[in-house]
Amino acid sequence: MSEPEARFRWGAATDTGRVRSNNQDTYLATDSVFVVADGMGGHQGGEVAAQIAVEGLADSVAEATTPALPEGVRRANRSIVEAADRDSDLRGMGTTLCLVAPVDTEVGRRLAVVNVGDSRVYRYAADRLRQVTEDHSLVESLVREGRLTPEEALVHPQRNILTRALGVGDELQLDWWELAVRPGDRYVLCSDGLFNELGDDQIAATLRRLAQPDEAADELVRLALESGGRDNVTVIVVDVVGGDDDKGGDDEPDDGDIPAPEVAHFADRDDDDDSGGEPPDGGGSSRDRRFRWRVVGYLALVAVILVVAAGAVGVYARSNYFVDVDGDEIVILQGRPGGVLWFDPTLEEVTALAVGDLTPALKEEVEANPEYASLDGARGYVEALAERIEPIPEPTAID
Ligand code: MG
Repeated sequence: MSEPEARFRWGAATDTGRVRSNNQDTYLATDSVFVVADGMGGHQGGEVAAQIAVEGLADSVAEATTPALPEGVRRANRSIVEAADRDSDLRGMGTTLCLVAPVDTEVGRRLAVVNVGDSRVYRYAADRLRQVTEDHSLVESLVREGRLTPEEALVHPQRNILTRALGVGDELQLDWWELAVRPGDRYVLCSDGLFNELGDDQIAATLRRLAQPDEAADELVRLALESGGRDNVTVIVVDVVGGDDDKGGDDEPDDGDIPAPEVAHFADRDDDDDSGGEPPDGGGSSRDRRFRWRVVGYLALVAVILVVAAGAVGVYARSNYFVDVDGDEIVILQGRPGGVLWFDPTLEEVTALAVGDLTPALKEEVEANPEYASLDGARGYVEALAERIEPIPEPTAID
């Protein structure tokens, strides 16, 4: 029997959560591959994208080799792009993807980890939980640049903006690790619905407490729901068990450090156009369409907010009238006394009253700039003012 003996025990769980109406997460768990995909895109798009990714991979991991796996991810990306091109309802759909699978390499059997997006793979070994994958998200980029703290990232309103995903274009960049197959190691694959609800310490405590992978997966999902369940949540817990005959990873230190990923870059094109040299990988120019779209969208949002804010200031600044003394004249101005930012008050009308008509007390009152929401309001004040300085004459007796 040439089929390799099962080396894993695993359990998986998924839930729509308490807020979303449908579950756009999908997972695949077999003896030879574990995948979590968190789909996104309106209507059914997210579910479809995640489903295509997972089904495509199920086919392509039949032969678990280093070239076959990234090629399978590339094909899955292509399938999603093509499905979206065919059906306008699915336009804009995409998915994250994280994957763990044993692969045969030149140095023997290894455990491949692949990631695109912000679903995560953790390794729990020697009682320590380590995140293997790096999130391809805007907040993670900001954390790496030192512009956000990890604590700020956890609550950042834009924390779901991805810098990479499957299905958003012909370009695809995936992170790739080959780790030792070490019996006793436990892997967790999950969507962001888990780690946005639970801290690493809670995840680690659950993995420590529950030896059965299916129980651990169920419990992690349950805890995520209990602490809010604001997103779909999916967890696969994979235990590496015995049967390791080629000891592929003895070179790896036991300190649990995770090496930096290899980055595989694909620039799929139907036709060889004039774009010529694609960047080999990792370059800033190879960010995918979604990233550009999201960032452009974000900047546009900021611009809209600024315009709306400026408009609101303008409306506030101009929707007011006040009375003032200008030389010898009593005038009505539109705006706020002293102006607001660059909105200076403008002269609306010169009234029939003169400063010389006012008593010192009334002059002081006018200099305090009484304000009104309408021009009529300000005119009413001036009329009343006129009555206060020119008492209505005694009625003339008729006859
Ligand atoms: Mg999610």
